[in-house]
Amino acid sequence: MTTVSVIFYAIVSQRFTSSGYATGKPTVRVTKSKPDCSATEVPVRIAMKLPESLFKRPILQANIVVPEGESQFQITTEIEEGIAQLVQEGMGITMRITSRRWAMTSAAKTPWNPSRRATARVKNPLPAPTHCPYCSAPVDVVSNAEIYGREYGDWPWAYRCTSKNCHAYVELPPFTNIPLGTLADAPTREARKRAKAVFNPLWQSERMTRDEAYVWLAGALSIANSEECHIGWFDVQTCQRVVTVCLHYAREQNQ
Ligand SMILES: [Zn+2]
Repeated sequence: MTTVSVIFYAIVSQRFTSSGYATGKPTVRVTKSKPDCSATEVPVRIAMKLPESLFKRPILQANIVVPEGESQFQITTEIEEGIAQLVQEGMGITMRITSRRWAMTSAAKTPWNPSRRATARVKNPLPAPTHCPYCSAPVDVVSNAEIYGREYGDWPWAYRCTSKNCHAYVELPPFTNIPLGTLADAPTREARKRAKAVFNPLWQSERMTRDEAYVWLAGALSIANSEECHIGWFDVQTCQRVVTVCLHYAREQNQ
């Protein structure tokens, strides 16, 4: 039986925020040779050995396996369809593509087996918390079901204070074991929410980029290094200052 080997690469590109969260829609392109990829791209190798006769069939089935260490890339239906469309255009092969979700791969990621690529993407990582800043009790990594009642999100983990009465916790950027900020108790969480609600519109409105907005905020708060300016690192008082300076800025802009 004559077989035909078909190998190609689908390059999935995804933009990330500085905390490692995916932002915007992922895009995909297809090449026949192994591509050079940037940190925000993952080449998914698709290899098929097919009997020649199969090419007479109208539809081929392909299964995408996300390479080990790259499991933070969710192959969405959109990407599957994008790959199929590009293969159709570039190679004249009609495919139906299904993918295995990251949780089903043997390289399933956990905070104890984080993704190196996702970890490298987090700027200014904080050390893992060992003790609660509010009550000094030890801090554990827990499933966020213990906080929300059910597992929530693609990366359902959190650092949480072990004291029963404290309820301080912080989430982790996807596929890392890095805390997203310092541990927050209920008043701190509320204060950070209010601060983000007034700060995020500054860059979401595209008046400035997110990085520019943080440089501005660092200046307004007299934080010397803008890389150390993260709402997730702030206490209640600093969050209140964020609200004050942002509202002041918004008033000036509207005059
Ligand atoms: Zn505590």
